[in-house]
Amino acid sequence: MAESSQFSRLIHGWTQIDDGKGATREFDDFVSSNDFLVVDCNGIEFIDARSMVWNVAFGHNQPSISAAVAAQMNRLTSVPTLDGQATATARCLAERLTGLTGMSRVYLSLSGSAANEVAITIARDYQTAIGIPERRVIVSLKLGYHGQSIGTLPLAGFSGLQMPGAPESLDYALVPNCYCYRCPVGQAREICNIECADSAIARIEALRPDRVAALIIEPIQGSVGHPPPVEWFKRLADYLKKHGILLIVDEVANGFARLGNNFAFEAFRIQPDVLTLSKAITNGALPMAATLTTAEVTNVLIEAGWTPSFGSTQDGNPVCAAAALATLDILEAEDWASRAQYLGKRLDKMLRREIGNHPNVGEIRGMGLFRAVELVQNRATRSAFKKTEALAKELKDRRLLVRCDGGIIIIAPPLSTPHEVIDEIAFRVGAALRSTSGS
Ligand code: PLP
Repeated sequence: MAESSQFSRLIHGWTQIDDGKGATREFDDFVSSNDFLVVDCNGIEFIDARSMVWNVAFGHNQPSISAAVAAQMNRLTSVPTLDGQATATARCLAERLTGLTGMSRVYLSLSGSAANEVAITIARDYQTAIGIPERRVIVSLKLGYHGQSIGTLPLAGFSGLQMPGAPESLDYALVPNCYCYRCPVGQAREICNIECADSAIARIEALRPDRVAALIIEPIQGSVGHPPPVEWFKRLADYLKKHGILLIVDEVANGFARLGNNFAFEAFRIQPDVLTLSKAITNGALPMAATLTTAEVTNVLIEAGWTPSFGSTQDGNPVCAAAALATLDILEAEDWASRAQYLGKRLDKMLRREIGNHPNVGEIRGMGLFRAVELVQNRATRSAFKKTEALAKELKDRRLLVRCDGGIIIIAPPLSTPHEVIDEIAFRVGAALRSTSGS
């Protein structure tokens, strides 16, 4: 097949299919990768400072993952964990994941969206099992994202994502998030008493807590990259516990050492009732996701004689499970969490040095090796940055892959990235911004 970015019959997610005027759209057509680099069909090397979709956490092309996948391919390729069927590979993965997280049971699926749908079903089934089936509402946070399936789209806290496709349902509700730079309750970080948590709680009170099955949160929202204070989590978690509302922690993007702890719930000192994982679970090599429950949740379901109402053809696929097991070996072989902290601090320092005083830089923030630069048109008024598209092009022209959307640059390179390359990422961001803004 010709390696060309010309005509393609592919429909690409989140991408306008055609401009309707016959113009051929240029796609980034990648042909190979290695560690923090990806190479396009013209032989141009890009620094992958977004780990593709935040999933290639330990660097592209890990030989041990390829070997594990090949070995499993030659042994047994397709036995789903459905209808009483099992494989040692999937069982072993469940064992390893529970060991790492302290959770009790695991359902394996194939995407973050699917893992969150399973989490929603489990939360509602749990409430039914304890005799309160009317508790069905799933609460999520403004600016959050939990997937693109029909069941997870309504959880997204963006108006754009709630438009086509998302079912209108009273079983979902949004509450204010914690976003200090643009505080949803108009407070200033230096003097606030975390009123945004109280505001979220007040919204749940207004909904009536006895109708709410669960709250789902991303510890750090991928859209804004803002780490809420530990107290924010505590206040919400205490409220949920008091009212029997489950806490679903979506670590699809945050998990596996990225934020400076193996799991984000450890960093923020919260205990999820249900935890979802995906993305880095196979280092991006194959689809895999996990929904994990605590012993308390599991026991309630077991006592109620629960039979899951979910199960998809490839769930628990042994080849994908083998990729995940090899990834967990990589995770456990090194102190990646400390490395994420070290590289994150270095990136933060370099970004501040490069663009900290730039008139369009509103805030530089983040945690571990997940960093955000929020751009503004005017620092005093914090008005929306007007040149996101032009900046995205400048970044690409400088052979740098980052997420650049809505005036926010999210930088999350693989944790294996050498520190000189971390510096280079900051230089390229600075050069692209200066070129876009002309200052
Ligand atoms: N949850 C979070 C926090 C995510 O960032 C994403 C994807 O970006 C998802 C869920 C959905 O995962 P997937 O794209 O694998 O369906």
